[in-house]
Amino acid sequence: MNSSPDKKGLILVFTGPGKGKTTAALGILFRALGRGMKCGVVQFLKGKWETGERKFAKTITDLDFHVMGLGFTWESDDIDQDKKAARLAWEKSYEMIFSENYKILILDEITYAFHYGWLSPEEVCDALSKKPGDLHIIITGRNCPSLLTDMADLISQIESPKHPYKKGVPAQIGIDY
Ligand code: ATP
Ligand code: MG
Repeated sequence: MNSSPDKKGLILVFTGPGKGKTTAALGILFRALGRGMKCGVVQFLKGKWETGERKFAKTITDLDFHVMGLGFTWESDDIDQDKKAARLAWEKSYEMIFSENYKILILDEITYAFHYGWLSPEEVCDALSKKPGDLHIIITGRNCPSLLTDMADLISQIESPKHPYKKGVPAQIGIDY
């Protein structure tokens, strides 16, 4: 439960088609880590490239960073494996949510697991409704289901009026990965 009336564990959702969902969530961790708050990340998708954030996370004591997903589905040849990876990612998230060890947890790209039917929004909402009172949860990913946005305290919908990709510019190291 909340230890102080000023402290409320929020559910934040960063969604929409634009760039900046995962990096906004990581920006909050940067701030919280500066406050000495222990943080966790579970990544539900693993792209084909190593990312700067994964490399950096290994150097930070107060941050537990788990990359649980497999590749993007269109890179994968085994849907059952993807489903198992999503389930394992959720089991890890659940354990972290109820461990009382963390002040902030990011469930990065969890919305893809809903999209492919690997995980049900009902199950996740049920767990979030019982989370420790002062734990903040950040959910990222496109097309967040309404069950989750309904229970969120904050939703940032990121649009994409411009993206270099549309001009054929490939992903840039340090900016995109
Ligand atoms: P970031 O991790 O940079 O904050 P994101 O989490 O908002 O991005 P995702 O949907 O997770 O976006 O996609 C991850 C990758 O796709 C990133 O390399 C990002 O630059 C790229 N990307 C994000 N939005 C767009 C877009 N509108 N058009 C093309 N590429 C995009
Ligand atoms: Mg992302």
